[in-house]
Amino acid sequence: MVKGAARVLILATMALGSIAPAGCGDNPTAPDQEVGQSPLQQCLTRAVFGDPANSQYILPFPVGASYPLLQTYCGPQNHGNGNQLAWDFTIPFGDPVIASRAGTVRVVVDTYADDDRIGSHNNHIFIEHADGTTAMYAHLVRDSATVREGDGVAQGQLIALSGTSGAPVEVLHFAVYRTWPNREGDDVPISFRNADGPLDERGGLVQGATYTALPW
Ligand SMILES: [Zn+2]
Repeated sequence: MVKGAARVLILATMALGSIAPAGCGDNPTAPDQEVGQSPLQQCLTRAVFGDPANSQYILPFPVGASYPLLQTYCGPQNHGNGNQLAWDFTIPFGDPVIASRAGTVRVVVDTYADDDRIGSHNNHIFIEHADGTTAMYAHLVRDSATVREGDGVAQGQLIALSGTSGAPVEVLHFAVYRTWPNREGDDVPISFRNADGPLDERGGLVQGATYTALPW
């Protein structure tokens, strides 16, 4: 659910032309920020993505697909505390979503209607990896999940279709958290080893740029 202040911010950014999804992956229980650092500074301190060649993650869509990045990290928009390193890709309704990294499915929610715009009503899947980090894939199409809780998932395996549940636009929200259950930990900076597209000086993806999934 988007709270009052956040809604004002969203409306303000939308008025400026942003189309970022409302309430996208907000995490109200993220750890407190350090005293003396602004939220932006706090986020940028964590936003070190490293060499993508060393990443254990691939883009969450199939090889050969290309999509623009709708929202990047540490932005002034509506990824809440603990979720500011998430990536939002603009993906047409019904296109496939794949596992970015192998793991075990912990949560599958795909019962919300595709036209339900309430931010917390996003269909989503959580996959825990061998090191305890957990990926979130959100705004999925209703009844599209091809995996169940407890399933082992291979990297690159189809898990669902990208949609609009809990979002005003077509979008896939992808984030990785340090711990499972994910809500107890911050998100962590991750890049994609098969992403063909521009990176900034931190190794992060660039908002508005298009990324193609290369063979990996
Ligand atoms: Zn998002």
